[in-house]
Amino acid sequence: MSLLITNIGELTTNDPELGLLRDAAIVVGERVEWVGPASAAPAADERLDVRGAAVLPGFVDSHSHLVFAGDRAPEFAARMAGEPYTGGGIRTTVAATRAATDDELRANVARLVGEALRQGTTTIEIKSGYGLSTPDEARSVRIAREFTDEVTFLGAHVKPADTPDGYVDLVTGPMLDACAPYAGWVDVFCERGAFDVEESRRVLKAGIAAGLRPRIHANQLTMGGGVQLAVELDCASADHCTHLSEADVDALANSNTVATLLPGAEFSTRAPWPDARRLLAAGVTVALASDCNPGSSYTSSMPFCIALAVRDMKMTPTEAVWAATAGGARALRRPDLGHLAPGASADLIVLDAPSHLHLAYRPGVPLISSVARKGTLQSLCVAEGHLLNASGPHHPESPHKGVLS
Ligand SMILES: [Zn+2]
Repeated sequence: MSLLITNIGELTTNDPELGLLRDAAIVVGERVEWVGPASAAPAADERLDVRGAAVLPGFVDSHSHLVFAGDRAPEFAARMAGEPYTGGGIRTTVAATRAATDDELRANVARLVGEALRQGTTTIEIKSGYGLSTPDEARSVRIAREFTDEVTFLGAHVKPADTPDGYVDLVTGPMLDACAPYAGWVDVFCERGAFDVEESRRVLKAGIAAGLRPRIHANQLTMGGGVQLAVELDCASADHCTHLSEADVDALANSNTVATLLPGAEFSTRAPWPDARRLLAAGVTVALASDCNPGSSYTSSMPFCIALAVRDMKMTPTEAVWAATAGGARALRRPDLGHLAPGASADLIVLDAPSHLHLAYRPGVPLISSVARKGTLQSLCVAEGHLLNASGPHHPESPHKGVLS
């Protein structure tokens, strides 16, 4: 089954040769089959006329923590009233998560994945990290795996209050053994009050030895050694990068490690913004992700993150959209995602707007009118729930009726 999307006013391909196309069309099956001028488009089984709208790759959200129970709205309100963010509130969510049933956790992930999809996210990475015991971390990665192919084992999120001593032995031993079958990535919160550089190196190396690929929470609250460790271990991404030395920026610029910026966290903790311009000027690959979690960034909205990156981190709208699509794909080392050249996965969004610039220009406005994953238009109804993983249980995907002809 092939689908022709035509009368595209502006098509963002993120392909260096194709660039930004006007009056364009695209033909998709599971993958992109053809891209070019609308006047030259070949026929396809179905046809969607988007009447001058902008089309761009679906957002690739490379950093989220969706497996949890409860929320921390009172903590957020207290912070907005002047209390600092310390990361200590993670333990509040751990208690709620441990007390929840599998179905409660699953329903919460489904709700948040659906929210993300309605805002244009076609791929989402999901971390564990609110279980912090072998059985609770194992069920977190198992449930995450029902929703996405990009699952990250984050047993080393914080040390639990009940077993701080020997916790790294647990994370690198029995907990890793129980979680590795469901995860593709290993992560650690390398930060004062969480895990130091030596502990973080142990966690990531154990994960690598178990067949997982490394990524890291680095330099969020302090100028620690996380970024240097990321480069040393060829992490796909160093996430946060809020406090960087010159040596850190140089190391990232000369590496394959993406700097993933998470402006939702700075927004929600009223913290200083990461210096995106400094990273871009040095030639570092920059991604944007939501960091969706109940404590420090409870947003699933990539358009919101784009707007923050433009307004407060001084990225251009085009740079921010690239970082939220192609940048996220690089942070997950997925060359099939984040662009719309022939052969790429046909994950795309149609905006209720003539240009990708509107994502930052019209902040807070629901501009996503259609979403396709692997060439299939997704139902964006709130009630149905949506799962992003074809290999897990999934709801039927209904075509976007009314505009198909
Ligand atoms: Zn995080």
